[in-house]
Amino acid sequence: MQHNAVQMDRVQQETPKAGILEVVCGPMFAGKTAFLMRHIVEQQQLGKVVCVLQPAHDTRSGNGSIRAHNGKKMPAQTVEAAEHVVALAANASVVVIDEAHFLGGQLVEPCRELLKRGYRVMVAGIDTDHLGDAFEPFPALCSMAHAVHRLHGVCTQCGSPSTHTARLVQSEDRFLVGGAESYEPRCGSCFKRVPQ
Ligand SMILES: [Zn+2]
Repeated sequence: MQHNAVQMDRVQQETPKAGILEVVCGPMFAGKTAFLMRHIVEQQQLGKVVCVLQPAHDTRSGNGSIRAHNGKKMPAQTVEAAEHVVALAANASVVVIDEAHFLGGQLVEPCRELLKRGYRVMVAGIDTDHLGDAFEPFPALCSMAHAVHRLHGVCTQCGSPSTHTARLVQSEDRFLVGGAESYEPRCGSCFKRVPQ
């Protein structure tokens, strides 16, 4: 019996606390980055070391920061590829990733690894592309998440909650970085009905 008790102690010491994954998704102009910023401040106030990551592809906010549409900025580290996420988070216990659609489906495994290691992870990004199709890594991450916050803005055509992002400029590229000059929020019905 004593032997079993020693073994249990060892198991408890070697098994890290299970991680927590939250997903913040939705169309552009829904307040996703502002939501992340509130989470970052809350975790810092709890004394946690927060690793804030932003994909290198997102050039809108410039290097070294995430920026919400309300103009607020916060420092962030640039991540070149999903495979670097775990190493960049080494000194933190909380990881926040903005604009995660730029990292694609390759982000799923690093997130699984962070959860195994007991991290609190929050991943934000656009979950449908300009054609209305699902954007990786969100289908997989939503199925793993402890909480999914799907945010919406306001449809520019009818004022209903926006669930889609309409592209206003001609481009076949799935990844076209832009702001209000290139995209606008629309509800599902105006997204289909009004030409882009
Ligand atoms: Zn509408």
